[in-house]
Parts: sequence; C-alpha cells; structure tokens
Amino acid sequence: MLDHCANPKCAKPLRYLREGRIFVFDSLSSAPDGNAKRAHRLEHFWLCGTCSKTLLLAKTQQGIQLESKAEHTGSFIHAQAS
Ligand SMILES: [Zn+2]
Repeated sequence: MLDHCANPKCAKPLRYLREGRIFVFDSLSSAPDGNAKRAHRLEHFWLCGTCSKTLLLAKTQQGIQLESKAEHTGSFIHAQAS
C-alpha cells in the first residue's frame, strides 16, 4: 500500500516520506458486513509530491478514492486550463 503513490496512473515508488502526503484511514468502519470484531486496522496511503498537489484521497462507501482537489477549491483548475 505504501510502496507506491496511490494514484494508479502514477505509481511512483515511495522513497522519501517527507515528499508528498500520507493519508491514514481507519478500515474498521469500512467492513462490508459490519463485522467489528476484526482487529482495528489503519490503512496508509501515500500520494507523491506531484499528485498531492492536485489530488487527495477520500474514504467513501465504495472505498478509498482519488479526488481532484479542484472540486474542493472551486476555480483553481479553471484558472489554469483556460
Ligand atoms: Zn503520484
């Protein structure tokens, strides 16, 4: 999980933890059958420096998903893409 960038289109190998951004999610509440007897477990994901500038990870009902930061910062992308 932590070996490479969480962006499958990037998959840059993790070499320096200080680069990029680490995301930690509690996997307990995502158990599909609600079985809370399993060990409390944290999942770690890493986005490299390049990806973390434009992407972030969010936990949804479908699991961990990549999201564009632009959706959270409004016109950021529009200003660059015009
Ligand atoms: Zn990346």
